[in-house]
Amino acid sequence: MSHDYTSLFIDGRWIAPHSTDVNTVINATTEEAMGRTPLGDAADVDAAVAAARRAFDDGRWSDLTPGERADVLGRFADELEKRAGLIAETVTAENGMPITLSAGANGLSGASLLRYNAGLIRSLPLEEVRPGFLPGEILVRREPLGVVAALVPWNYPQALAMMKVAPALAAGCTVVLKPALETALDANIMAEAAAAAGLPAGVLNVVPGGVEAGEALVAHPGVDKVSFTGSTATGRIIGATAGRLLRPVTLELGGKSAAVILEDADIDTAVADLARVSFPNNGQTCTANTRVLAPAHRYTEVLDAITDMARSMTVGDPLDPATAIGPVVSARQRERIEGYITTGRGEGARLTTGGGRPAGLDRGWFLQPTVFGDASNDMVIAREEIFGPVIAVIPFRDEDEAVALANDSEYGLAGSVWTADTERGTALARRIRTGTVGINGYRMDNAAPFGGYKASGLGRENGVEGLLAYFQVKSVLLPTA
Ligand code: NAD
Repeated sequence: MSHDYTSLFIDGRWIAPHSTDVNTVINATTEEAMGRTPLGDAADVDAAVAAARRAFDDGRWSDLTPGERADVLGRFADELEKRAGLIAETVTAENGMPITLSAGANGLSGASLLRYNAGLIRSLPLEEVRPGFLPGEILVRREPLGVVAALVPWNYPQALAMMKVAPALAAGCTVVLKPALETALDANIMAEAAAAAGLPAGVLNVVPGGVEAGEALVAHPGVDKVSFTGSTATGRIIGATAGRLLRPVTLELGGKSAAVILEDADIDTAVADLARVSFPNNGQTCTANTRVLAPAHRYTEVLDAITDMARSMTVGDPLDPATAIGPVVSARQRERIEGYITTGRGEGARLTTGGGRPAGLDRGWFLQPTVFGDASNDMVIAREEIFGPVIAVIPFRDEDEAVALANDSEYGLAGSVWTADTERGTALARRIRTGTVGINGYRMDNAAPFGGYKASGLGRENGVEGLLAYFQVKSVLLPTA
């Protein structure tokens, strides 16, 4: 599989970049170059924002009826579905995501988000006449915000991009998408699908770039809203710029989520599911439940079951459907994770399985699924986002302590509660200060508002809330007489 792009998708065409720098995308499994894109610079961002600005300002998109826009989004979804296999395999090669996960999370998620938002916009009231508090009526309008800067990381590149692109386009906004350099190839496949679907020129533009392009885009005077997914450190920088410019911003950031296993849970079932919930995408998932809180009197049983589960996960070629754990995205990322494993050992946590590179896999940035027992919530490995296949199992005495431990985190993105009693689990979920909590599982649902408490972010994506984030609200005060 080789993808070589020498141009950028701007203004509905593939045009020569301003930048002469090249971004080489490396296959995480073979460590070989698998494709190239231009490495966009600030001038490329300028061209893309100008195209998006023209496309928004002349009304070629925002003046369409919601139904007309929804029809185009449906065609965009069709074109993505035609490319689902290619997209899934491309992302798996780029970032190491097991193909069984990538098939849905990359191959099909974009189309599904487009169809979901197309459905919402067909029935969302855009104008409403309300009685005033004073005499007279008020026309309340929802108007598209304008040009959207969408910046995304490499871990779920298609879904995370489309969680922004789909509602923005449905609302009538135009978009400049800046994918991460590691996953720039699949973003270009998304651009090809948009072009094939007949999306009007300039409505979606794609500029692969690094920090220079990202900073230029966030601060660009032609941008009306910034939507960012990535690390909390970068989110703080982007939030500061947005604050200075008084520019609306959505920030989807890091996490250190807790899985709370109550003593009435079926441990075998819970632990089998935690393979997916705690180690998704080789642990490179913002919602990964990397702190497992286990009742003290069943602690050994839970830890042993988790250790066995992790030990039995198949590590290998992520294109093989039998693989549960593929390589992490880069050599740098693997070194970072290994640094955390060293830290965990140093601070007294007990390694029960994993902790190193698997034997026999000399190419590719592989790591064994790793479990730390006898961990406490104040350890670095329980506080910082590792973003790799490493979890910590922490004991609790009672429900109050479980809630306190779950909430004792800088982050608040996701989490789960495992119990035989759904009502008890739901009551506990209400007490956890985090954006999403699963009961006996965890899943992303287009209809479930998604986002973070605390350092996990600002705002929500998905659900109707995710669509409303791309509108301004205007009140027209109708005459009183
Ligand atoms: P990152 O913050 O380094 O990069 C994310 C994106 O921002 C990339 O496109 C990058 O090029 C760009 N960028 C980097 N510095 C920038 C700057 N100063 N200005 C503008 N753009 C800049 O994140 P990463 O390490 O690539 O991704 C992993 C992180 O993303 C993890 O912390 C993970 O939890 C988080 N994440 C969050 C969610 C969520 O929905 N909450 C989802 C997935 C990943």
